Amino acid sequence: MNNRKIFKEALGLLPGGVNSPVRAFKAVGGEPIVLTKGKGYRVWDADGKEYIDFLASWGPLILGHAHPKVVKALRQELEQGISFGLTNPHEVRLARLVVEMVPSVEMVRFVNSGTEATMSAVRLARGITGRKLVLKFDDCYHGHYDSLLVSAGSGVATFGIPGTPGIPEDIAGLTLVVPYNDEEALEEAFKKHGEDIACAIVEPVAGNMGVVIPKKSFLSKLRELTRAHGALLIFDEVITGFRLSKGGAQELFSVEPDITCLGKILGGGMPVGAYGGRKELMERAAPEGEVYQAGTLSGNPLAMVCGAETLRTLRDTEPYDELEQKMEKLAEGVSSILKDKGLPFRINRIASMMTVFFTEKEVVDFSSAKTSDTELFSRFFKTLLGKGVLIPPSQFEAWFISTAHDEDALEEALSRIQDAVGSL
Ligand SMILES: *Cc1c(COP(=O)(O)O)cnc(C)c1O
Repeated sequence: MNNRKIFKEALGLLPGGVNSPVRAFKAVGGEPIVLTKGKGYRVWDADGKEYIDFLASWGPLILGHAHPKVVKALRQELEQGISFGLTNPHEVRLARLVVEMVPSVEMVRFVNSGTEATMSAVRLARGITGRKLVLKFDDCYHGHYDSLLVSAGSGVATFGIPGTPGIPEDIAGLTLVVPYNDEEALEEAFKKHGEDIACAIVEPVAGNMGVVIPKKSFLSKLRELTRAHGALLIFDEVITGFRLSKGGAQELFSVEPDITCLGKILGGGMPVGAYGGRKELMERAAPEGEVYQAGTLSGNPLAMVCGAETLRTLRDTEPYDELEQKMEKLAEGVSSILKDKGLPFRINRIASMMTVFFTEKEVVDFSSAKTSDTELFSRFFKTLLGKGVLIPPSQFEAWFISTAHDEDALEEALSRIQDAVGSL
């Protein structure tokens, strides 16, 4: 079997051939690849072609593919059975690690995806406050939950419009949308609607419009305003959790949310999400409290073991300085290659994530991100792919590196990128 054959069959069996739209490469064009194997910093497709991987399964694989410790722990647990549907010890172990590592979390509920985490967190916030409105930021992505899959209307702080058919206007209309990094619009939204806002949800570093760093006082302003108006603050740390630091963005920026959503790295490659916060808030969730939320496979033992082994390794080895230095090296290398070629670009980088935007404008929000030349990006993506470098197939996503990306990996990647850009 090869890429083309498998994908052709997939097209007849799965909508667009995929189980998540961006995998179809629509944003960049060309034929999607089908991956069959990953080891360390590399993946292989069904044609047997090898790639240096900066997609990292969209972020979860901070230890690289098939880390020996993780594989060993999973193998052991597999022998014990796959699912029980009642409490297992690994849920407690992973919860202990999360509470230890994430500053604002005292109690946590595991779910099966980032989407479930944000959906449940918003329900909890609405249940606790008895209010209806949710405030989000333009083009922050929080999974595909109806209330959060809305776009900005026209204007600076407006009620949302459905981001897709299938979401009633009545639901989208309960979401307020404000531009990222815009403190004035934020103040205005709270001034107008403060009494009705149940929660504000934010990516503390945006990863889903490409990497966008919060301005210095943006998060603390948001903390101040939510507190002053009796709204809960939700940090969606599905990407940033365990990536920016051991304790995520809240540790790095010293701003504590009321509720934190986690996913991606939390499961180490298995489908795991979570929401957590102070005990008095989390105890409002069923069965301790009245806000209902449940999951047949939540806390699955294999998924918990995979997450626990990943977090334990991160806690014990604290690879964050090293990861940041590697990302810096990669970013500087890419930067000098693109400069030599005379291409317009901006690199936004923090810790072990970055985005190369093909624009001359500083990227601070979605409207500046959109000034990027997506046609140039798509040529860049394809030529990199051809040379064996896998980056996310969209201008508005983040490159990730893992502890498996060693010096050789980076040097080889830069040499392939140089080659690729030469032929652009
Ligand atoms: C990936 C992501 C989600 C959604 O997680 P899924 O597991 O894909 O449902 C939510 N929020 C952020 C910030 C994400 O990056």
